[in-house]
Amino acid sequence: MPTELLFRQDAYLRETAATVEAVNERGGIILDRTVFYATGGGQPGDAGTLRRSDGSAIAIGTAVYDPGDKSRILHVPLEGQTAPQPGETVTAVLDWERRLKRMKVHTALHLLSVVLPYPVTGGAIGDGDGRLDFDIPEGGLDKVELTEKLNALVARNAEVSCRWISDEELDANPGLVKTMSVKPPRGSGRIRLVAIGDIDLQPCGGTHVANTAEIGLVAVTDIEKKGKQNRRVRIALA
Ligand SMILES: [Zn+2]
Repeated sequence: MPTELLFRQDAYLRETAATVEAVNERGGIILDRTVFYATGGGQPGDAGTLRRSDGSAIAIGTAVYDPGDKSRILHVPLEGQTAPQPGETVTAVLDWERRLKRMKVHTALHLLSVVLPYPVTGGAIGDGDGRLDFDIPEGGLDKVELTEKLNALVARNAEVSCRWISDEELDANPGLVKTMSVKPPRGSGRIRLVAIGDIDLQPCGGTHVANTAEIGLVAVTDIEKKGKQNRRVRIALA
């Protein structure tokens, strides 16, 4: 059975009751449903705990997609944890402080891609900071100027919303692709679109805050030259 990905519908869900479906040969715990985001799109998998009915807890270091079946998420316990039994009911609880920081950084990186409307070649999200790599023909980027533009977008208090569309709907609305900052992947049948007010629209499977105001002050901390056409731009939450 595929894992029900509750974070896709509600990124603010901090915990859920779930049933243990299996524990794989390397100790990865598969639940029927989860609030744990699995590593992907530059965002690390969530940490947290699985609370058992006897009051004990299994500490989870990260979550990843099962390499053998990408529709399932493996909750990877820290070393020395007791394995739960298949069929057992647990409460999956996020390390919320860490996840919220990642949601803020992730949403801020969407805004950075608006401030710098160039092709993105890579990116990473940390706990309070993050980066995007851009294919930019000329240099001359200014940290102070970029920081001001970024904070001006944050201050617009724009709502972040998401909706699903089908490949067919996408084909029927070619204007949609034109307004998107990133081209959606084709062939999966369903595409998750994330809109930040009328500021940004792009396909994304990550977790975001509900309003740009939640990001708070953010700063461009470093601009690094990575090859002739590549600039690595780092940001950090204040
Ligand atoms: Zn996103």
